[in-house]
Amino acid sequence: MSLKPLLPGALSDRGQQMTLGVMGGGQLGRMFVQAAQAMGYFTAVLDPDPASPAGLISHFHIQTPYDDEQGLAQLMQRCDAITTEFENVPAPALVTLGAHRPVAPSAPCVAVAQDRIKEKAHFLQCAPISGVYPAPYAAIDSDELLASAPADLLPGILKTARLGYDGKGQMRVASREELAAAWEQLGRVPCVLEKMLPLRSECSVIVARGTNGQVVSFPVQANTHRDGILSVTEVHDGAVPAELAQRAQASTVAIANHLHYVGVLCVEYFVVDNGTGGQDLVVNEMAPRPHNSGHYTQDACDISQFEAQVRALAGLPLPEPRQHSPAIMVNLLGDLWFEPNAVRPQRSEQPVSPPWAQVLALPGTHLHLYGKLSAREGRKMGHLNITAPTVASVRDTADQVLRLLGLKK
Ligand code: ADP
Ligand code: MG
Repeated sequence: MSLKPLLPGALSDRGQQMTLGVMGGGQLGRMFVQAAQAMGYFTAVLDPDPASPAGLISHFHIQTPYDDEQGLAQLMQRCDAITTEFENVPAPALVTLGAHRPVAPSAPCVAVAQDRIKEKAHFLQCAPISGVYPAPYAAIDSDELLASAPADLLPGILKTARLGYDGKGQMRVASREELAAAWEQLGRVPCVLEKMLPLRSECSVIVARGTNGQVVSFPVQANTHRDGILSVTEVHDGAVPAELAQRAQASTVAIANHLHYVGVLCVEYFVVDNGTGGQDLVVNEMAPRPHNSGHYTQDACDISQFEAQVRALAGLPLPEPRQHSPAIMVNLLGDLWFEPNAVRPQRSEQPVSPPWAQVLALPGTHLHLYGKLSAREGRKMGHLNITAPTVASVRDTADQVLRLLGLKK
């Protein structure tokens, strides 16, 4: 990557407005585009979907498949630097782009995050420095490895090495028979078998690392999932014990440094019992991009994870982010448009907008909807950030929001 910053609002070496590009047009791409545009950049999105949330608001929207040579050529022609908003962007496409333009994160970094086997090997390499280990696991990609998987990994979770998200592509297995059946059901693709751990809680850390190797860290996020999907993130004093939070941050910095990572990286952790009455951290997985658990940064920090992504990509300075308000983020899934709740007691076949007017009447509520044209159950439609001057008041507002939306924490 070039070390010369790509200055917003300037003319680039190409003689055109400085333009930042993103592979993928989902909500993360949309919020990257919003942050880039707020700073004065032009933006370009490559996504085949004509109604993609980011494509709808970008200066340029290239509607081709991610590995289409002409599409990639157009993106390079339009852009001064390119990032990605989802980890399953084909690695060869990033290699092509990277040969001609600064690309962050780089193809090799994305390739590690795309593959749980590589990812866990990377975590193991970092563990002596970071002090944080992944759950005991074994890679399974042959009948021999299936047969020789250590018995003490059971009961466990079999996860496909690639393309899993929001709990998809994984199955819980309690015996060797169930393990064999699950591997068949997952199509005998490469998998990891992970020991099932008794989780006390889950947390995540987002860091941004610049082209000069400087790393800054956002505060540690406490995450609650429902049905494998993130539902609530809390970030305030006491949400994660201070000693664990410090270790999680240090571990995430080590993971980013060891990859020579450039861009925004999120690493997820489990908090487990350590067997002697205390707690320990286990590193779970990483995302080579901003993360759902970091959305609170938009309203609770002086720099959002998306602005950090823009700055890292453009080679701009990355000051240490400061959280100025206790925050709780509530994910808004499509179910809310159908589920019965306090305001709409009848379940309807037709989507009905949730009671935003009542929600927004509460102080410190910030609604972010992604511009998706139709609600479906399980679909991420938006999120609501709640900020307040104190931990007690942010919790109180969050309770009221959850009640209005008919959600349990
Ligand atoms: P995804 O890519 O779908 O987010 P994860 O590996 O993060 O996949 O797993 C999804 C969720 O399943 C985790 O957030 C956690 O709640 C649970 N889980 C995953 N691995 C384990 C494990 N080894 N032990 C206990 N729970 C787990
Ligand atoms: Mg996960």
